[in-house]
Amino acid sequence: MPVFSGRIPKTARERLSQIKGDNTPAIAIVNYGNAQISDSLRELVDLLDENNFNVIAAGSTVSHHSIFDGVAVGRPDSEDIAKIDEFSQKCIEKLETCESLSAEIPGNKPYSDYKQLPFVVSCDESVCVFCYDCINICPENAIPDVDPIDIDLDLCTRCTACINICPENARMFSGEAFEAKKPVFESANSERKEPEFYL
Ligand code: SF4
Ligand code: SF4
Repeated sequence: MPVFSGRIPKTARERLSQIKGDNTPAIAIVNYGNAQISDSLRELVDLLDENNFNVIAAGSTVSHHSIFDGVAVGRPDSEDIAKIDEFSQKCIEKLETCESLSAEIPGNKPYSDYKQLPFVVSCDESVCVFCYDCINICPENAIPDVDPIDIDLDLCTRCTACINICPENARMFSGEAFEAKKPVFESANSERKEPEFYL
């Protein structure tokens, strides 16, 4: 599960809420961009518990930041993968007994409020080839069916899916708020954070 400003994404939460576990073993993982997981892992474990999954393990992993590309460059790296492999082996062993998670998970409840980032996702009309891949992948239906240029920024969660899928690199973050925040955020989150695992 990705982390958006310390929470699991609202739409992902709503979709996961529809899935009932029937005591199926689950491993709760949040992945973040070397900033903070805040309450997200606590929230994911709680949600799986509420939906009758048997959470046997949990963890947080680090990837290259999806919005600020100067943070966590090259992550996950070989050190991350080695730690994930070690955790995975422990999960395989734990699946033999399906013993529930016992470790304390960081985070608070009530969870922090959702935040809507003020950054603009824009599209360069001169580069766009109107393939509509971005429209199809947008989880919020924030890009109109017929016009990939015209994004509804009230619906957009800045998830970056459209930016990553665009074959022409036509989509990007832009605007004064983004340009001002970028160096501040990248400086504040330059120190390496490590994956954390709980059994
Ligand atoms: S970043 Fe793109 S894909 Fe994600 S919600 Fe906004 S418009 Fe949709
Ligand atoms: S994915 Fe890129 S090229 Fe395709 S419609 Fe969207 S912005 Fe245009």
